[in-house]
Amino acid sequence: MKKRKISIIGSTGSIGRQALEVIEKLKDKFEIIALAGGNNIELLKKQAEKFKPKYICSNAPSPLCGESLSDGLKLLQGSEGLEQICSNNENDIILVACSGKVGLRPTLTAIKNGIDIALANKETLVMAGDIVMCEAKKYGVNIIPVDSEHCAIHQCIKNINQVDKLIITASGGPFLHKSIDDMKNATVEQALAHPRWNMGKKITVDSATLMNKGLEIIEAHHLFGFDYDNIEVIVHPQSIVHSAIEYVDGSVIAQLGLPSMHIPIQYAITYPERFDGIKSKSFSFAEIARLDFEKPDYDKFPTVKLAYEMGRLGGTATVCMNAANEEAVFAFLDGKIKLYNIYEITKKMCDEQDLIQNPSIDEIFAVDEQTRKKTNEYIAKFS
Ligand code: MG
Repeated sequence: MKKRKISIIGSTGSIGRQALEVIEKLKDKFEIIALAGGNNIELLKKQAEKFKPKYICSNAPSPLCGESLSDGLKLLQGSEGLEQICSNNENDIILVACSGKVGLRPTLTAIKNGIDIALANKETLVMAGDIVMCEAKKYGVNIIPVDSEHCAIHQCIKNINQVDKLIITASGGPFLHKSIDDMKNATVEQALAHPRWNMGKKITVDSATLMNKGLEIIEAHHLFGFDYDNIEVIVHPQSIVHSAIEYVDGSVIAQLGLPSMHIPIQYAITYPERFDGIKSKSFSFAEIARLDFEKPDYDKFPTVKLAYEMGRLGGTATVCMNAANEEAVFAFLDGKIKLYNIYEITKKMCDEQDLIQNPSIDEIFAVDEQTRKKTNEYIAKFS
């Protein structure tokens, strides 16, 4: 592989840090153009010293002010900085690893500049999947999914026209075999104790309510262009089968691997090539011994049903659902509401939304903002 020039949006987050671990193992394959982190300046500084990017970008005002780092390192700031990174044609690929809506505009900028995207940011597709995929097609840009389920499907698909169904696996999270009451009264610590994956807090709570799977159905719909009727969710507690596809002839192809985000991250940033890189040990069916599957319990996890409904509605319905859910998750993490309230609040906001079909990016952000405001006004009544 020719040395690939890469930038990482969200280098200090969970995916960003693991991506740098992958890049460290494949030093001769990559050159880092820019690293953008949020507010964790100390870590961003350490990453810059180690990986020697040309640019770093932070949210904080005047990051690293007055400090001398390596020669030539340029400091960028905020959303303007992200735009500068994503319009820099030196990049071969940009890993969008930040969480939240902050990933959307930079991703669109990178696409317009013909830069391939390794996409870990769910909101980009949940909020603006139609626009993003349409632009990617127009500019001939590859969007390689980092999300383990979508990465699995991406690896399984050979001829997309012959695929009948996408089968997305869900670990089921920490409450899979707990009672609905246990789940309703769960503490933040219990919700954050994910049995299989070590991730950021927001996505871990989403995994506990299964909203993460709801968002992933919407992602899959946009990425692979499948109707919601042809996207199925199956609970698979061991998280070994990362997802599967069924061909029209009934043949099923699944992608398996140990539950480590290093694998999909490396796949996405080195695609279409593969390297041993971060592989630590060989996969053993004998060690795994068994794989279990069960239907999701939609009474206990109604978030998935809501996501199907909003996905089918289209337009800004998924924008509303995503914004309400995110604000409710933050309120739960702040101890303001109970775990189950997240769904109730999100559902109420979805029921009361003013739907816009074929929205522009500005309309999407407006709906996002209005929904967050309304959600927080409603949350205030809980305390
Ligand atoms: Mg996932």
